Amino acid sequence: MISFRKKCPEAIADLAELYLLSRLAPDDNRELEEHLLSCSRCMDILDETEHFFKSFRDAYARFEAELPQPAIESCLGPTLVVSHTAV
Ligand SMILES: [Zn+2]
Repeated sequence: MISFRKKCPEAIADLAELYLLSRLAPDDNRELEEHLLSCSRCMDILDETEHFFKSFRDAYARFEAELPQPAIESCLGPTLVVSHTAV
């Protein structure tokens, strides 16, 4: 498990990405949340990552609108489709 209660994690950008995808282990998730509450620098990075994800989803939504449904499923697979209502 990662410990960054006192200092900023070096891989904060990667961790933010995993956090937003809900892929962090529960302990890491809790530690990261605690750190973010007291660290505006890492919070900014999380915001930027979230913004990037949102842009990606917007782009994906446009892409989806331009293609017939079966084509999307065959090139992106069903896993990416799941998170897209959560915007
Ligand atoms: Zn930090």
